[in-house]
Amino acid sequence: MILGPQGSGKGTQAEMLVEKYGFSHIETGRILRAISASDSPLAEEISKTLSEGKLVSDEILEKVLTEKLSIPSPNGYLFDGTPRNVKQYDLLKYLLGLLGQKIDRLVYIWISEEEVVRRLSSRRTCLKCGNVYNLITNPSPRGNVCACGGELVQRADDSPDAIKKRLTWGFTKEVKQKAEEDGILLEINGERSIEEIHKEIVERLGLNG
Ligand SMILES: [Zn+2]
Repeated sequence: MILGPQGSGKGTQAEMLVEKYGFSHIETGRILRAISASDSPLAEEISKTLSEGKLVSDEILEKVLTEKLSIPSPNGYLFDGTPRNVKQYDLLKYLLGLLGQKIDRLVYIWISEEEVVRRLSSRRTCLKCGNVYNLITNPSPRGNVCACGGELVQRADDSPDAIKKRLTWGFTKEVKQKAEEDGILLEINGERSIEEIHKEIVERLGLNG
């Protein structure tokens, strides 16, 4: 499983690992958003929870994960963005245990709070087409304007104050501690290039380059 604060680039790392090693990618946020947009009986409850910025109930998470884990994956699973707290961590351990499996490693990509703020506050959105750039990691090919010629602005929720307000570290810290107790924590310095981070994850997981 792979965890890290917003802006840590964990999504990019997860995609690289999935592409290279054929893990079954279980990205809970995306799965929940897909269900909330479907005609599933769970759609209404999930969409309400997500719109309030809350975590879904353990019952729903259990249902969703059980369904995903019922599809066998010869190369194993990569959990992305889950667990968000210790209860979810224990749930995952339990569900994998039912299948005779376990959590092998928890990769935690850490970046400092200042760096999170710096990265997220560098986002710029096009007023015309809605395209999102990042001054540091993904600048527009046309500099201060969008590729379409539209004006680039900073959205109100990308201001440093708004970012600091919504950052929550507490739960992640508890999960990290739990993983450390279980001897499966792998901490990776996320304040480096995408390639350097990828290389270290591959090496320390003992995967073949
Ligand atoms: Zn544009």
